[in-house]
Amino acid sequence: KATLRLDKVLAHTGFGTRSEIKQLVKRGVVSVDGKTAKDSGMQVNPERDRITVDGEPVVYREFVYLMLHKPQGVVSATEDTRDRTVLDLLDEQYSHFDVFPVGRLDKDTEGLLLLTNDGKLAHNLLSPRKHVPKTYYAEVNGAVDKSDIEAFARGVTLDDGYVTMSAELIVLHCGRPEAGEHSRIELTIHEGKFHQVKRMFQTVGKQVTYLKRLSMGPLKLDEALPLGKARELTEEERQSLL
Ligand code: URA
Repeated sequence: KATLRLDKVLAHTGFGTRSEIKQLVKRGVVSVDGKTAKDSGMQVNPERDRITVDGEPVVYREFVYLMLHKPQGVVSATEDTRDRTVLDLLDEQYSHFDVFPVGRLDKDTEGLLLLTNDGKLAHNLLSPRKHVPKTYYAEVNGAVDKSDIEAFARGVTLDDGYVTMSAELIVLHCGRPEAGEHSRIELTIHEGKFHQVKRMFQTVGKQVTYLKRLSMGPLKLDEALPLGKARELTEEERQSLL
């Protein structure tokens, strides 16, 4: 099994930045197989070597699973020349994990975004054949009514000719455009075409003015999570995705 730098292992397990870890090693509180570590760059095998900090065993893990409450104004990419990315919102302790967003939300879309470095899990959730449902809350300029519920249930033809799969539309409030009101809806789709929700409403002549993802498969946005903040999935949430 491959070896890793000691500071990388400790960074992965939440002991701080490389320079903070260097200080820990300097203070002599880090040991590997019972011997005090002298060099934070030494090679270790995290699965075999017994690593401790202040006598406490370090539990190494390979994967991390984060739920982000994505705000508007950041892009769901790992790098971008112009815009801030969702990775810029994460705590330093996650910077060594190479996490990436599982799927995309538009720059102006808020809500649930899963970030992980577990490629297999991401692949399963994104696989077009799995039809993982995604539920969105939206505000829409126009009176969303029964005819839209029926159209979305049947499938609508997007501007590129693609016919959408059956989707569930719930009208929370049918806005009266003459009173300047927007409609409030929830929509569940079972696929993820580019700008899908916005383009579905375009086909019925209405415009999405606010969009927020509420859930992805069994995973629900934790409403206690402030905008722009991320937390690790609970064990239960992680199990639900397997
Ligand atoms: N549909 C959209 O139009 N935008 C998103 O960000 C997600 C779904």
